[in-house]
Amino acid sequence: MRLAIIGPPGAGKGTQADALAQILGDPHLSIGDILRRAVKDRTPLGIRIQAIIEGGNLVPDDVVIGVVKERIARKDCETGYMFDGMPRTVGQARELDAQGVQTDLIISLEVPDEEVIVRLRERLMCSDCGRSFHPTAKPPEKDGFCDKCGEELVTRKDDEPDTVRTRLKIFHEQVDPLKEYYELQGKIRFIDGSGSVEEVRKRLFTALGI
Ligand code: AMP
Repeated sequence: MRLAIIGPPGAGKGTQADALAQILGDPHLSIGDILRRAVKDRTPLGIRIQAIIEGGNLVPDDVVIGVVKERIARKDCETGYMFDGMPRTVGQARELDAQGVQTDLIISLEVPDEEVIVRLRERLMCSDCGRSFHPTAKPPEKDGFCDKCGEELVTRKDDEPDTVRTRLKIFHEQVDPLKEYYELQGKIRFIDGSGSVEEVRKRLFTALGI
C-alpha cells in the first residue's frame, strides 16, 4: 500500500508511521530523517539545506521531490511505502501526481497547536538514527539513549520554541490547502492524534481496518 502521513510537527507521524510500516511490511520514508542525515554527513545537499532545516523552514519543492524519487526507485519500495511528512505543500502533491508517484491514501493526524507545543518542549531525538522519544509519552528503555541503536539522545535544533512557532505557522499556511486538495480527490482520512501513543495507534489501525 502507498500511504502518506501528514500532520503538524510533534503530531507523532514518525512514531505511528513506524508502527504501521512494521505491520504492513513497507518501508517508512521520513523525508525529514533523510534530509537531516544529509546535513549530518555534510553532503553537498546537506550543506545547502542545513540553515533551512535548522530555521524550521521548508526545503524547496524540487529538492524534496528529487530526494523522494531517488528513494522510491529502490527495490524495497516496489510493493508500497509509507511517506512521513510528505507531501507538505500543494506544489509537492501536484508534482507527485504529475510524475506518477502514487499515494493511495493520506492520513492526517490532527493535533491542536497547544498540545504540539507541550510535546515538542521535551522531545528527544537519537543523534544517529533520528528516532524520537519523549520522557513521559515515549520514554527510552535506558535514560538518554536510543532503544534501537544505543546512541545518545539529543534535542532537535528545530524544536526550540521560536522555531516551533515558525514551523506551526508554515504548517497551517501550507498544509491546510493540501488537505483540501486531497479532500477533493477523496483520498484523505482525518485521525484524532491527541492523547497517548497507544490511543492514537488504536484509532489509526481501526480506521485502516488492521
Ligand atoms: P520532520 O522531521 O518531518 O519534522 O522534518 C524536518 C524538516 O525537514 C522540516 O522542518 C523541513 O525543513 C524539512 N522537510 C521535511 N519534509 C519536507 C517536505 N516534504 N518539504 C519540505 N521540507 C521538508
